[in-house]
Amino acid sequence: MNIDDLLATLKYKADSESHLIPDQTKCAKCTNRVCEHVCPACVYEWSEEEHKLLVAFENCLECGACKIACVQKSIAWRYPSDSKGVTFKSS
Ligand code: SF4
Ligand code: SF4
Repeated sequence: MNIDDLLATLKYKADSESHLIPDQTKCAKCTNRVCEHVCPACVYEWSEEEHKLLVAFENCLECGACKIACVQKSIAWRYPSDSKGVTFKSS
């Protein structure tokens, strides 16, 4: 089973607002955009058109890799509120 197949088995309950908030001023000056490369769920995408970092927070696996990898410490990171977010195993 490849990663896309595994991701397709997960369940998400989307929060109403993003639990991942990048500092767009820092992101605009970023030269490596490591968040795009470390995120297993492809949550981050730099948009040249909008000149901002797009965040598909609904797909977040809550692994924390982006927060650790961003050397600019741009991302304000928390878990989704209440019981929102990803479910790895359904009971
Ligand atoms: S979150 Fe960090 S790594 Fe990603 S674009 Fe912003 S500054 Fe760069
Ligand atoms: S916590 Fe993990 S899955 Fe969520 S955005 Fe960061 S790297 Fe991607």
